[in-house]
Amino acid sequence: MKPDRRGFLAAVSGAAIAPTVLASTSSGRVRAPGDDHRGKCVIASANGLWQDGTGCVVEAMHRINNGDDPADAVVAGVALVENDPDDHSVGYGGLPNELGVVQLDSSVMHGPTHKAGAVAAIEDIKNPAAVALKVLKYTDHALLVGAGAKRFALQMGFKEENLLTEEARKIWLRWKQNQNPNDDWLDEDQNDFPPPSHARVDPDQPFTYGTINCSGVTDDGSLASCTTTSGLSYKLPGRVGDSPIIGAGMFVDNAIGAGGATGRGEAAIQNCCSYEVVRAMGEGMSPTEACLSALRRVVTNTRQKRLLNDRGEPNFGLTLYALRKDGAYGAANLRGKGVRFAVHDGTTAKHVEAATVFD
Ligand code: ASP
Repeated sequence: MKPDRRGFLAAVSGAAIAPTVLASTSSGRVRAPGDDHRGKCVIASANGLWQDGTGCVVEAMHRINNGDDPADAVVAGVALVENDPDDHSVGYGGLPNELGVVQLDSSVMHGPTHKAGAVAAIEDIKNPAAVALKVLKYTDHALLVGAGAKRFALQMGFKEENLLTEEARKIWLRWKQNQNPNDDWLDEDQNDFPPPSHARVDPDQPFTYGTINCSGVTDDGSLASCTTTSGLSYKLPGRVGDSPIIGAGMFVDNAIGAGGATGRGEAAIQNCCSYEVVRAMGEGMSPTEACLSALRRVVTNTRQKRLLNDRGEPNFGLTLYALRKDGAYGAANLRGKGVRFAVHDGTTAKHVEAATVFD
C-alpha cells in the first residue's frame, strides 16, 4: 500500500514507536533493545516503515519468510520507497541537482558471496537499487556511473522515465530563484507575483539529505544490505555521495554483520563509516556500540570550522545502522535525540529510537 505524505511524516515524527531503553551499564557498555534480538531481522532508516504499518521492512521480511535471497529481499523493500513520489530523498520524486536533473545513487551487497554492485549519478531510471543488484549479479564489476550505468540499465530492460515530479521541480525552482538577489531570477521578496502553487522550502535549510538504507538477515545468518538515494539536494552535477560507495553507504561481512549510513555522505565516505561499523562489531562491540564508535571517529576527524558548531561538535546529521549475523541490531545518530529507525524483528514491525553521540 502506498502511504500518503502525511502518513510518512507522522511515521518518522513519532507515531507507533516502540519504547526504547538505552542504558549505560557499570562497565560503560551501552545497552539497547536490539542487543538481545536473535534470528531473522530487517532494519532500515525511519522511512522504511510507513504509518499504515506497511513499507520497506515489511516487504523485505515477507520476502525473507518466502525464502528469497536477502539481497533480493532488501532491494524489493527499498523499491517501495524509490517508487514513492512523496519521498523527496529517494528515487522517483527525489530532489534534483543544481541543474534540476535527478541523479540517483545506490549500492547493494550480498553477504554469502561477498559481492557488491552499485550505480552512481544514474539518470532517468526509477529503481537504481535494482540496477545495482543487476551489476552485482550479471557483471564482474562493482560500480557503474553516469551514462554507462544508464546504458547498462536499459540493456537490462529498465525503462527510461522522467524522475522529476512537478512537486520536486517546484521545490527546486524555489531554491534556484532564491539563490542570489543579484541574478536575473526574481527572489520571493522581489516578485510581485509569487506563483501560489510553489512548494515552500525553509530558507535556513536549503540543502536536504535523505536516503534509505536497509539490511536483512535470514535465520541461517545470510546477510545483505542496500542503500538508495537521490543524494544531497541541489548538489553539483556529478556529485556522488556515500550511498553507492561500498564501505561508506553500506557494507556486509557475512561472518560478522551489515552496516549502513544515511546523512552527510561526505563524512560517511571520508570515515568509511559502514565498514567501520562492521569492523567494530567484529571486535566484539554490540551493534549500537559499533555505530557509536564509528560516529566518534567522525567527530574526531571533523576539523573544518564550517562543519563545527560553537561547541566544536560536528553540525551535520549522520545516522549509522548495524545488523549482526545473529540478528542483534542497533543504530546511532550523531546529533539530536529522537531519531528513529525501522525494524522488523520477524514478528512485528516498529520504529525504535537510535542512540546519540550528542543529544
Ligand atoms: N547520504 C546521502 C548522500 O550524502 C544523503 C542522505 O543520506 O541524506 O548522498
